Amino acid sequence: MDLFEYQGKQYFARYDIPVSPGGMARTIDEAVAAADAAGYPVVVKAQVQVGGRGKAGGIKLAADAGEARRHAEAILGMDIKGHVVKIVWIEHASDIAKEYYASFTLDRSVKKHLAMVSAKGGVDIESVADEDPDAIAKAHIDPLVGLDEATARQLVDAAGLDVEAHDGAVDVLMKLWRCYDEGDADLVEINPLILTPDGKVHALDAKVTLDDNAAFRHPEWDEFRGVAQLDPRDALAKEKGLQYIGLDGEVGIIANGAGLAMSTLDVVNQVGGKPANFLDIGGGANAEVMAGALEVINTDEKVKAIFINIFGGITKGEEVAKGIVEAFRRVDLKAPIVIRLDGTNAEEGRAILKEHESERLVSKPTMVEAAKAAVALANGVQP
Ligand code: GDP
Ligand code: MN
Repeated sequence: MDLFEYQGKQYFARYDIPVSPGGMARTIDEAVAAADAAGYPVVVKAQVQVGGRGKAGGIKLAADAGEARRHAEAILGMDIKGHVVKIVWIEHASDIAKEYYASFTLDRSVKKHLAMVSAKGGVDIESVADEDPDAIAKAHIDPLVGLDEATARQLVDAAGLDVEAHDGAVDVLMKLWRCYDEGDADLVEINPLILTPDGKVHALDAKVTLDDNAAFRHPEWDEFRGVAQLDPRDALAKEKGLQYIGLDGEVGIIANGAGLAMSTLDVVNQVGGKPANFLDIGGGANAEVMAGALEVINTDEKVKAIFINIFGGITKGEEVAKGIVEAFRRVDLKAPIVIRLDGTNAEEGRAILKEHESERLVSKPTMVEAAKAAVALANGVQP
C-alpha cells in the first residue's frame, strides 16, 4: 500500500523522524484553518501519489491566510499527471539551506535491504542515478543484522553531506531504518531531507510503501487504507480475491497459476505486444472466477484484446471451456478474447470453444499462436 505524503509523515512521526507541523484538508476552508494552525508562512501541498508535484504547480508557499486560500483553491481539484487532487497537506514552511536524499528499500537480487543517501536531493533520484551515479552512496543491509550507527555514519560521509548535517542525518537514518524495519515498509524515501540554516536535519517529503503481507501485524494501518488511492482495477481484483497487478499495455492476461501467468507476459512481449496486467486465477477456472477476472480486465480502458491462457490440471478442459463460454455470456466485454487451452481433456475443451467461436472469441492451440493472435487483435487486425 502506497501512502500519501501526509500519511507517510504521520508514519515517520511515530518513529520520531522530524517533520514540520501541519494538517490535511479536503476543502478550502479546512485548508485555511490548517494553515492558521500551522503558523505562517506555510506550504500548501497537493496529495497525489505521483512525483514532481512541485514542477506541476502542486506545491506553493503562502505568507498569509489570503494566499493560503488562493493556493488551496488552485490546487484542490487540479489534475497532476492524471491524478485529481482531493486532499492538500499544509505545513509550516521550512527554510532550506541544503536538500539531500535518503531511502531504504529492498534489493531482491541480493536478498538484502538497500540504503541510499545523496547530497543531491530535491530532484528526481533516477536522473541523479543516470547522470551522476557516484553522487549516491549505497549500502546493503543484512536483514538479520540491521543498520548500525557506524554504517549510517559511513553512508552520510560517503554521500558528502555537509559536516554540520552529519549528526542530524545519522540520527534521521537510524530512525528511518526503524520505521522501515519495525514499521514493515517496502520503501521509505525522504526527498528532500533538508538541512535548515540553523543546522537541523528534517524530512520535507515522505514516500512510504507498506508491505501488505505484514498488514495482520498492523491493525492501525486501516486508517490509511480508507483514503489510499487504489487503482480501480486493483480495488475490484482485491474484492474478487484475484492475484492481479496492473501494467500499462493493451493485452489483458488471464492465466491459471502464477508461473504460467508470468510466462504469458513474456510470450506476449516476445511477439511484440504489451501486457495490460498480470492475473492469476489459481487452480479452479470455473465460470464464477473467470467472469470475475474478465470483469476486472474489462475496467481497464487500455485493453484492446484479452489472452486467456489455461493449462488444465485437476480442472478438466471441458469444464474450463464451459466456464469461459458462460463468463463470456455474462460479462459485456469491450475487447475480443483469444484462448489457449491445454492440459487435461484439452481436445474436449477446444471442441466446446469451437462451437462458440467468432471474431470476438478465438481459440488457438499453442501459447505462441494465441499470443500472436491477441497482439494482432490488439492492433486491430483479425488473425
Ligand atoms: P515533489 O516535487 O512531489 O517531490 O514534492 P516535495 O515535497 O519534495 O517538494 C518539492 C520542492 O518544493 C522541494 O524540493 C522544495 O524545494 C520545495 N518545498 C517543499 N516544501 C518547502 C518548504 O517548506 N519550504 C521551502 N522553501 N520549499 C519547500
Ligand atoms: Mn519530493
